[in-house]
Amino acid sequence: MSDEHHPDTLAIHAGQDPEPIYGAVNVPIYQTSTFAQEGVGRPRRWDYARAGNPTRAAFETALAALEGGSWCRAFASGLAAEHTLLLTLRPGDHVLLGTDVYGGTYRLLARVFEPWGLTHSACDLTDLDAVRAAVRDETRLVWIETPSNPMLEIVDVAGVAAIAHEAGALAVVDNTFATPALQRPLALGADVVVHSVTKYLGGHSDLIGGAIVTNDEDLGERLAFLVNAVGAIPGPTDSYLALRGLKTLGVRMRRHSENAERIARFLASHPSVPEVRYPGLATHPGHEVAARQMRGGFGGMVSFRAGSRDRAIRIAEGTELFWLAESLGGVESLIEVPGAMTHASVAGSPLEVPADLVRLSVGLEDPRDLEADLARVLEG
Ligand SMILES: *Cc1c(COP(=O)(O)O)cnc(C)c1O
Repeated sequence: MSDEHHPDTLAIHAGQDPEPIYGAVNVPIYQTSTFAQEGVGRPRRWDYARAGNPTRAAFETALAALEGGSWCRAFASGLAAEHTLLLTLRPGDHVLLGTDVYGGTYRLLARVFEPWGLTHSACDLTDLDAVRAAVRDETRLVWIETPSNPMLEIVDVAGVAAIAHEAGALAVVDNTFATPALQRPLALGADVVVHSVTKYLGGHSDLIGGAIVTNDEDLGERLAFLVNAVGAIPGPTDSYLALRGLKTLGVRMRRHSENAERIARFLASHPSVPEVRYPGLATHPGHEVAARQMRGGFGGMVSFRAGSRDRAIRIAEGTELFWLAESLGGVESLIEVPGAMTHASVAGSPLEVPADLVRLSVGLEDPRDLEADLARVLEG
């Protein structure tokens, strides 16, 4: 598939030629653990499905095309992808991350890799001087999340990647919130993209998955070894669901963004809401950078302050269409209180989030119904 096609075309065609025997237009679910070999030591493409599987490979090819990467591998979860990526580092190496980052990423660094000898520290990645001051001789990775979870901060990917490169480190972008439909970090100068496929790429809250994409051939080679050596891989059925989700990524992300922007404006105009965080609002401190590095929308996530923890909890427990749940990125709208739920594991760390913060994953329902749902609980 030519890389010259536009993203919505690549999502449906890259890696997805009709199946050669019957012409099935969907890549089959190759539910197999092994492959018959043509001779001793002469496998066809794969010898054993830990290393690769045709359904998984179709998803990887399509996602690589969307991210503009030459190398992509899928994983059993976003954290499995992150874990495998961090295994390319050695004890004594340092990871610099932002002060607003997915709680599980922080837990992986603090509770799994720190005892193993990998060090990390957090700084405000929205401040390039702070990033320059925080990189160390041992820094090997700068871990960027933009928009970040749950504060929806915007990091200048090109700016931070340049500082990382000067320091001899790689810039990694967790592109889960934006997806390649809205933001392509490799084109902005990042070296590696990681995803929780669980969220928007899968898009229907029916699978757990992860992915890594890069253009760095050496890194790809080391990662391909680790994929097989460590084995944190997704099964063929989840790979099929991920690919099925990916096909509609462009239309979904545009509609998620439209709905979220409408909800953000509604909340910003509501007298009982002290602060709304949405990068599409001109009042957001990162709006200009977001407008420069994102395309087609600002994503489906909106966070706001409720004034107090109790009110945040009452709001999250009061909505009818927004279901109270962790996770995000599906067609259905979700609501949660990060300080008490997804980000409870960062309490007391530099990453602690405001207790009255409410996070919305704005789904694909009619936005008038979503707005009415929120209006009702905000009156209460
Ligand atoms: C959910 C999430 C992850 C972890 O992915 P899993 O698929 O849940 O393991 C990583 N980063 C971000 C931004 C996420 O939202």
